[in-house]
Amino acid sequence: MTVKPLGLDPAQCLIGGIWQAPADGAVLPLTDPSTGTALCEIARGRAADIDAAISAAQAALAGDWGRATAAERGRVLARISQLVQEQAEHLAELEARDVGKPLRQARADVTALARYMEFYAGAADKVHGSTIPYLDGYTVYTLREPHGVTGHIVPWNYPMQIIGRSVGAALAMGNACVLKPAEEACLTALAFGELAHRAGLPAGALNVVPGLGAEAGAALAAHPGVSHVSFTGSVEVGKLVQQAAGGNVVPVTLELGGKSPQLVFDDADIDDALPFLVNAGIQNAGQTCSASSRILVQRGVYDQVVEAMAARYCGLRVGPAMDDLDVGPLISERQRARVEGFLAQGRDLEVAGQGMLPEGLPEGGAYVTPTLFAGAAASHVLAQDEVFGPVQVAIPFDDEAEALAIANGTAYGLVASVWTRNGARQMRLAKALRAGQVFLNNYGAGGGVELPFGGTGLSGHGREKGFEALYGFSALKTVAARHG
Ligand code: NAD
Repeated sequence: MTVKPLGLDPAQCLIGGIWQAPADGAVLPLTDPSTGTALCEIARGRAADIDAAISAAQAALAGDWGRATAAERGRVLARISQLVQEQAEHLAELEARDVGKPLRQARADVTALARYMEFYAGAADKVHGSTIPYLDGYTVYTLREPHGVTGHIVPWNYPMQIIGRSVGAALAMGNACVLKPAEEACLTALAFGELAHRAGLPAGALNVVPGLGAEAGAALAAHPGVSHVSFTGSVEVGKLVQQAAGGNVVPVTLELGGKSPQLVFDDADIDDALPFLVNAGIQNAGQTCSASSRILVQRGVYDQVVEAMAARYCGLRVGPAMDDLDVGPLISERQRARVEGFLAQGRDLEVAGQGMLPEGLPEGGAYVTPTLFAGAAASHVLAQDEVFGPVQVAIPFDDEAEALAIANGTAYGLVASVWTRNGARQMRLAKALRAGQVFLNNYGAGGGVELPFGGTGLSGHGREKGFEALYGFSALKTVAARHG
């Protein structure tokens, strides 16, 4: 079966406003994770195509796009938002089938993409420099300028959301983008390129080159024509991307995942917390950088919380993306084998609750059993390593100091949440937790596009989302005029 995003041939790249096959005509198979069957063929872009995309982006900067005012850039983004909303159901279906995520979750991702475009449309002409009081006879001011050509290397788990937050902010600041989507899921990236084009974005301001990480991705990260690289994905590849960009001394934003904890204290409203505790672990089948895979529970409510979470696990329904149940397949057979490997490492733990794989699941689908483990030591591999599957571990603690030590005791630092009615404890922990985002009596805050996001430690560095991203996607110039 061939899936056609917005009627396009998916085996093409968007370069300089023109859909074209890669220079050598190479293609890659794209697999439906719900069934293991072929969806279509996509372009296998390589270094030559990345080169062409960067030249096209440079031409856009030298032309109409480089001359566009901030207000004009905002208007184009607003039109893209509108077109995304008009194509919402088509985009949701593409994302669901490509990523394997339940349709409802894919619809939420479309809403987020439209909202990113809307937010950055409104923000484009609100970013300005400042004047700096200085010596007598001088006027000093700062300008916020685009970096130039920005590279965007995007993973397969949330293509639309990650494109929205990085490409949206980069375009708002006047950069020209080269987007390299993941080889496992790139259909909505193609559709987004087409919608941006239809919305009137000048040719070359956004180029989309699908391909393998080691080919197109590596070529983009190392290209001397790129002035900023935004990468979301694994720690290993993040390091390679940083090294490659370091060769050209250009800034990099790295968003590399985590082992995010939720801390549940004796005085928490457990009923209120429950849906968040579980959903944060199983959304998108746990393939979420900000998934909460560690549930730290104070001993006084430990049994109660584990039991209630286990009951929810037993009710989880697993199935193909288009059946729109609670948990879909993982992205690929490779990822399934990896998660099964982690599940096997939990054999010394108590299995507190499990979802059920129903009879009749498509044989080739990459399904795993959602699993809640209990009684894990903080040092256990399942309490330390990112699984990237629907797997959570419950860890007991005695007091606040121990909870904090466990929470901060991994190499990651992306997101954390605290469930307590004690206001002083909320304030103490919000400061002490090692994370880019801390949530008090919630988890994720609905994913707001307004909220700066990013990590510390192995979770990466730099911030995307919100207004903060606009600073990351621009460079500050200081102008000092001596006029007497
Ligand atoms: P990955 O890091 O290999 O891929 C992410 C993106 O980087 C893809 O577009 C890929 O093509 C590209 N890429 C791969 N090698 C590259 C290279 N040498 N140079 C430049 N770009 C390159 O991630 P993955 O293999 O898809 O997943 C592996 C693990 O990464 C997962 O199990 C998970 O732990 C983690 N992950 C995290 C996130 C996140 O949101 N933080 C997303 C996806 C994967």
